[in-house]
Amino acid sequence: MKKKEEIKKIRVRFAPSPTGPLHVGGSRTALFNCLFAKKNNGKFVLRIEDTDVQRSEQKWTDEIIEELKWLGIQWDEGPDIGGEFGPYKQSQRLDIYEKYLKKLLEEDKAYYCFCTEEELEANHQEQMSRGVAPKYDGKCAHLPKETVQKNLAEGKSSVIRFRIQNKKIKFNDLIRGEVEFDAGLLGDVVIAKNLNAPLYHFAVVVDDFLMQISHVIRGEEHLSNTPRQILLIQALGFEQPVYAHLPLMLNTDRSKLSKRQGDVALADYHEQGYLPEALVNFMVLLGWNPGTEKEVFTMAQLAREFSIEKVQKAGAVFNIQRLDFLNGLYIREKPIEKLTELCVPYLKEAGLLIAGQISEASLQKVIEVSRTRMKKLSEISGLSDFFFQNKLGYDKDLLKWQKMSDSEVKDSLSFSKKILSDTKKWDLKDLETELFAASDKFNSEKGYPEKNRGYLLWPLRVALSGKDSSPSPFEIADILGREKTIKRIDEAIKMLA
Ligand code: GLU
Repeated sequence: MKKKEEIKKIRVRFAPSPTGPLHVGGSRTALFNCLFAKKNNGKFVLRIEDTDVQRSEQKWTDEIIEELKWLGIQWDEGPDIGGEFGPYKQSQRLDIYEKYLKKLLEEDKAYYCFCTEEELEANHQEQMSRGVAPKYDGKCAHLPKETVQKNLAEGKSSVIRFRIQNKKIKFNDLIRGEVEFDAGLLGDVVIAKNLNAPLYHFAVVVDDFLMQISHVIRGEEHLSNTPRQILLIQALGFEQPVYAHLPLMLNTDRSKLSKRQGDVALADYHEQGYLPEALVNFMVLLGWNPGTEKEVFTMAQLAREFSIEKVQKAGAVFNIQRLDFLNGLYIREKPIEKLTELCVPYLKEAGLLIAGQISEASLQKVIEVSRTRMKKLSEISGLSDFFFQNKLGYDKDLLKWQKMSDSEVKDSLSFSKKILSDTKKWDLKDLETELFAASDKFNSEKGYPEKNRGYLLWPLRVALSGKDSSPSPFEIADILGREKTIKRIDEAIKMLA
């Protein structure tokens, strides 16, 4: 058994490039890393990989941090909170990379390449025409030192290439098992534009080493990068981390998840009113299987139950219906005060909620009666607009239950009006009792089938909501109050006149 101090600490990282919004794929990678760290008493690092100066923007870093926090994903070290191994933004680590680039150059494991775009392109075309897989032809791989010095002194444009050894690279991936690549196919890879401008493969390897990352858990799209990175690790004399490549996310037709088929940015889901708890629960099931029937998990449960060994290697289908289902579930469980607070911005944006127009208590009732139908928060406006509107727009035929005529509907509404005008106590319970009794009485007076409540309650419900589906007329009347209820009945009767 290993002695305590010999057991390597678990340290993982999420390393997004701030070149665009945080995607659901990236969020899942962050989540799996966070859970893996929690489960193993390890540390989770957030590192911003902004070496691509042209494409990186601060606003994306801000959005990534904001959205991860919103999801409830917490890191132990990162650009916003610092840590022992900082800085955590690659643009602030250029002197570190320079040191290692120089080391590789000195040891002749990397070299300056002066090939122009045109030369590289011509080489590419030539290899293609011969039917061989294109790779760098090694033109600058063995330039005399003097030529290199002269070219550099003249300011000739150059990049730094890493010598790829012609050998087989094997590694054991926690999810994919043993993986083998033929590095000979790769060709010498550009690792920096110059000493102060490292590129991804190089910076990632240096940082993972210096930040003592024990496990690299990332998306499958990086699997093919791993051999190059392993060769760099070996060249630099670093220790190799354990790899785990998460399965691709697929559309329901099993194509790769892409913007064309739906939203991929987490912010879009946030905006539509998906709850972070639901997204976390949904994302963890994209590739991970608890091995039981259970499918609803809180973050705390996941931190106990998650295990990387139960992550599948087959692509994970992004099924929006499942997300909607989970979101509906979490919406129904939210404390009403909190849910109301979450719905308010949507109601305001739809111009429905005007300050002072409705009391907090009534607003909560509106949300309470609507929540069973909600799959996402943005649906609240469409589900509850009639509570806020002064005038409802609907077709009078909607008032008819089955084959009722205009005058039958009119009688039904007048009957309801009378009952509701006389009701002493205006609360949900009493309204329900009175209207049920009224419905029985109305049916027997009119000779309608005994238990068919639609004859009285359908026209009333439509008069109050203007919709073919809504909460019950008792619930609506309770919230609207007597005055508005009677007014809406009168308006409906007028339409039938
Ligand atoms: N910065 C890389 C990306 O955003 C991830 C690097 C890695 O996880 O190795 O795709």
